[in-house]
Amino acid sequence: MAEQSGLKNRGHTVADMEERRAAAEAFTGATLEEIARGGMDPETASKNIENMIGTTQIPLGYAGPVDIHGGYAQGRFLIPLATTEGALIASISRGMSVINDGGGVSVAVFQDAMTRAPVFRVEGVEHATRVMQWVDTHHEEIDYAVSTTTSHGKLVRIEMFPSGRSLYMRLSFQTGDAMGMNMATIASEAVCRLVETETGATLVSVSGNMCSDKKPAAINMIEGRGKTVVAEARIPREVVEGRLHATSEAIVETNYRKNLVGSSMAGTMGANAHAANMVAALYIATGQDPAQVVGGSMAITTCEDIDGDLYIAVRMPAVEVGTVGGGTRLPCQREALSMIGCVGEGKARKLAEIVATTVLAGELSTLAAQAAGQLGAAHARLGR
Ligand code: NAP
Repeated sequence: MAEQSGLKNRGHTVADMEERRAAAEAFTGATLEEIARGGMDPETASKNIENMIGTTQIPLGYAGPVDIHGGYAQGRFLIPLATTEGALIASISRGMSVINDGGGVSVAVFQDAMTRAPVFRVEGVEHATRVMQWVDTHHEEIDYAVSTTTSHGKLVRIEMFPSGRSLYMRLSFQTGDAMGMNMATIASEAVCRLVETETGATLVSVSGNMCSDKKPAAINMIEGRGKTVVAEARIPREVVEGRLHATSEAIVETNYRKNLVGSSMAGTMGANAHAANMVAALYIATGQDPAQVVGGSMAITTCEDIDGDLYIAVRMPAVEVGTVGGGTRLPCQREALSMIGCVGEGKARKLAEIVATTVLAGELSTLAAQAAGQLGAAHARLGR
């Protein structure tokens, strides 16, 4: 599929890389001169790092193309991925090619809110009750406090969790096209100052860990954090058998015993084959906060055999991504974002749909390889 599109898959010389990059520029309309140049001027990273001594290099490639029918991402995409794991991009590309043969991916964003959860010290249960009542009846003042800190952030939900002399306040914000962690933190601090003044509660930490940032957490699995995204594809029986050398029945069984039962046995957060692989490679390529791979790793992969066809879906409760702010302003990362039409305003949900699509393709390929007993051989051939 890639080579039919003029995109060269094989070869590791400089000339191969240049030819492949030129084809990727022609395919996506992006200019990739910073990626070609490598490195970066220290000033461009002044807001992203302290004590800078240079840059570290991670190979950047692409997977795809893949056909996406999303609420925000629509069309045929080539996905930039930064990784040191040989076989990963080949595997994701295989998944995408098979998905295209089935008509592409359907994907939607179901929820979009970034959270911060300050913790207050209160005198006890009665005081906690009074603080909660004050918060419940003063939304206007709280919204005003938020509005003094951000023009794009909007508080959409407040949940309170009392425990002894601790009171947790989980604040959910829509953050426009920013991932929103700085925005939510700064806005939360303004809310906390107001709550302290009006209720006598004492702020202990603006992050009381019920947020929960960069830790696998049940609250994020259930309530979502960042964008909650679901992607699905249906692969016709003949494509499953001809291209993946497995049956839908075998892939469904592999998913059931491995991703669902095995993950329950191990007590993992999420139930998937290797969602973190796709999330990490795409986050690093596009300037997302790499520590938030944790949230992205909590995907649930489901498979069904529908009259011999394979139905496969991923639910990702916590895709914490943005297309402005953070590492997205760095030159190479920005060019990677431009490959998928995700630079700047109005693009964050599109990026989240592309993340879920890429995870779906990687899940499909790996599950199929394991169902067909090919995983070790593929890694031995491509990654050693
Ligand atoms: P940010 O760059 O701190 O904030 C986004 C900025 O872009 C705001 O000034 C916002 O303006 C502006 N903006 C312009 N157009 C926008 C649009 N269309 N949508 C949204 N904002 C727009 O980015 P952030 O996403 O809040 O924070 C990301 C950074 O936080 C990353 O570097 C990450 O590593 C770091 N981080 C911080 C914490 C923490 O606790 N503080 C935790 C984890 C990660 P307005 O302010 O006027 O809205």
